[in-house]
Amino acid sequence: MGLTGIQIFKLLPKKNCKECGDPTCLAFAMKLAQGKAELSKCPYVSEEAKAQLAEASAPPIRGVVVGTGDEQLKIGEELVLYRHEKTFINPPAIGVLFKDSEDDAAIDEKLKNFNEISFERVGYILKAHLAAVYNESGDVDKFVNLVTKIKDNTKKPIMIMSENVEALEKAAAVIKGLKGVIYAATADSLDKLVEVAKANECSLVIKAPIDEIEALTKKAVAAGLKDLILDTEARDVKTMFEHNTFVRRAALKKKNRDVGFPTVNLPCFMTDDKIKEVAIAALAIAKYGGIIVISDAKPEILLPLGIQRLNIYTDPQRPMVVEQGIYPINNPDENSPVIVTTNFALTYFIVAAVVEASRVPTWLVIMDVEGMSVLTAWSAGKFVADAIAPFLKKVGITEKVNHKQVIIPGYVAQISGELQEELGDDWEVVIGTREAADLPAFLKDNYDK
Ligand code: SF4
Repeated sequence: MGLTGIQIFKLLPKKNCKECGDPTCLAFAMKLAQGKAELSKCPYVSEEAKAQLAEASAPPIRGVVVGTGDEQLKIGEELVLYRHEKTFINPPAIGVLFKDSEDDAAIDEKLKNFNEISFERVGYILKAHLAAVYNESGDVDKFVNLVTKIKDNTKKPIMIMSENVEALEKAAAVIKGLKGVIYAATADSLDKLVEVAKANECSLVIKAPIDEIEALTKKAVAAGLKDLILDTEARDVKTMFEHNTFVRRAALKKKNRDVGFPTVNLPCFMTDDKIKEVAIAALAIAKYGGIIVISDAKPEILLPLGIQRLNIYTDPQRPMVVEQGIYPINNPDENSPVIVTTNFALTYFIVAAVVEASRVPTWLVIMDVEGMSVLTAWSAGKFVADAIAPFLKKVGITEKVNHKQVIIPGYVAQISGELQEELGDDWEVVIGTREAADLPAFLKDNYDK
C-alpha cells in the first residue's frame, strides 16, 4: 500500500516554493498520494526522501515496456478509472494470433497483413502492434520454428504462448533481448518461468483465477520480476469486463499494488464470429485491456479497432493539432492557389485530403489557433482579420507564389472585407467553400489549368 498524503508531506522540503506547479508542498503531497503528480517535479527532494517516496510516487499500475526500436510500446501506467477524469495514457497493444497449427500459406498471408496493413488517420498510424504466437499443436519444435520465423520477419514485439514450460523456455531464448512477453505462468510454473523471463529480458503473463492472482504476483515480484501482465482467465465478454474493471479499481482506488499491472485479453479465444470478436476487442480497448489479441490482421478488423484505440486514448482536454506552416499539396508552383485554415488536426486532414483528391496543385497555409476549428477559432477571436493578416505576411507564402490572392474558409466569409483592409489593396481575398467536400469542384472550376 502507498503512503498517505501526510506521510509524504513529512518527507518533502516544505519550501512552498511552487516550482512543482502546486501552491504548497502539502498540495503536491496530496497529489502524489493519489498518483496524480510525479515526484521529479520537485527539484528539492533529498536522495534519502526519494528512496522512501519511490513506492508512493510510482504509478499505481506498472508500466510494462514491450518490443524494441521503433516498434517498442508501453502498456499500463494508467492513473484514472474514467477517461474524462484526465486522460488514458498508454494505448493497448493490438496483438494478432499466429497458431503453429495453421498451414504455411495462412501464416505467410497473415504475417504479410500484420506487417504491412496500416491506416493513417489525423496524423496517427493505425496498425497491429504485437505477434502472439500460440503453441496450439503442443509440438515444441513446431512452436519454436514458428516463433523463429515470426522473429525473422517482423520488427514488432512477440508474445510466446504455450502451456508447455519447455516450449516457452526454448522460444524465450529465440526472442531474447527483444523485450517479448511470455504467456503464461500458472501456480505450477511460476518459479521456473520467472527465471526464464529474467534470463531472456521478457515480461511475464501471470495466469490465474482472479482471486488467486495476487498471491502469484507477490511471489514473482519477491523473486525479482516486476514486469508482469495479468490474465484472469476471463473467456467471455461479461467476465472480461468485470475482471478488467475489478483489477483497475483495486489498483487505483484501493492502491493494491499486487494487482497494479496491465492485463491481457484474448477475444481470439472467446468466439468464432469475427464481428463479435471485433466488438469484444473494442470493449477491451475501452475498458482497460493492456494487450488485446485478435485472430487475424485483416483490414476490416484492424481499422475499426485502430480508430477505437485512437478515440479512447486521445486526451479529451487537448485538441489534436498540426504544426503551423505552409503545406504544399500536389506539387504547387508560384501560380498555385493559396488556402488558409486553422491547425485543428481534423480540419487540416480533411482539407488536405480533398485538395489532394482534386489534383489541383495548392498551397495550404495552416495557422496556429490552439487547435480550434474554423468557427470556434473565429468566435474565440483567434481566426480573425487582424490575426490572419499579420500571420500571412510573415509566414513566407509570398516568397513561394507570384500573386497575393488568399482563399479563406466559407464559414468566415464575414471577415473577408476586414481582412482585405488589413492586408492592403495589393492582396485579394477570395471566399472559399463552407464545406471541405465542395473544395475539389471549387478548385477545379477556378484554378485547374
Ligand atoms: Fe514544495 Fe518541492 Fe513543490 Fe517547492 S517544488 S512547493 S519544495 S513540493
